[in-house]
Amino acid sequence: MEPHVYTRDERGQRRGWIEVVCGSMFSGKTEELIRRLRRARIAKQRVEIFKPATDTRYTELFGDEVVVSHDENAIPSQIVHSADQLFLLAGDAEVVGVDEAQFFGMELVDVCQRLARDGRRVIVAGLDQDYRGQPFEPVPQLMAVAEHVTKLHAICVRCGAPANHSQRIVAQGDRVLVGEKEAYEPRCRRCFEPPTDPPANPPAQTTSEPVSAPVRLTDA
Ligand SMILES: [Zn+2]
Repeated sequence: MEPHVYTRDERGQRRGWIEVVCGSMFSGKTEELIRRLRRARIAKQRVEIFKPATDTRYTELFGDEVVVSHDENAIPSQIVHSADQLFLLAGDAEVVGVDEAQFFGMELVDVCQRLARDGRRVIVAGLDQDYRGQPFEPVPQLMAVAEHVTKLHAICVRCGAPANHSQRIVAQGDRVLVGEKEAYEPRCRRCFEPPTDPPANPPAQTTSEPVSAPVRLTDA
């Protein structure tokens, strides 16, 4: 499941790749990110960890310089305001960890690709779906370009099955409710109840024109 920690090939050249650790809230994404980064440190690799400035959870408890998981298992990190800033601050790190990837924009995909091409091991953790059950960019796009994808599950609070969804249990239309873990609970597909209110920012339609030509399902 977890790739090996060697970041150099047999000729000593650095070899980069992208790992994505995704899942619903309470699925242990940050714990898994921290576990992989700790193992890289044990392997004497230079590690840098970043999280977005919008992740304000626990800053009163721990200050600004930590990645915090729900079990308060903390490691030092740098706060960045954009994916580009992350690229600049990565310095000579061999392993770059990114937490709460869903709070970065789509530019995170390009930044992770550049870091991997530059020979870094990039480990990205984030939500793959929003509270409506819709794909939450940029994590699905990162999953597509990553060498390794790990999808974790929480436990459904209703039935005990593996939970794939973050059920929002307070009424609010914003896509992101930062720092409100009390506002969510993990649910499985069967127990998940997608919200019925319209999205605050409805996704843009790719086309409003009906497809007029008949679609052939086989090559003639
Ligand atoms: Zn369930």
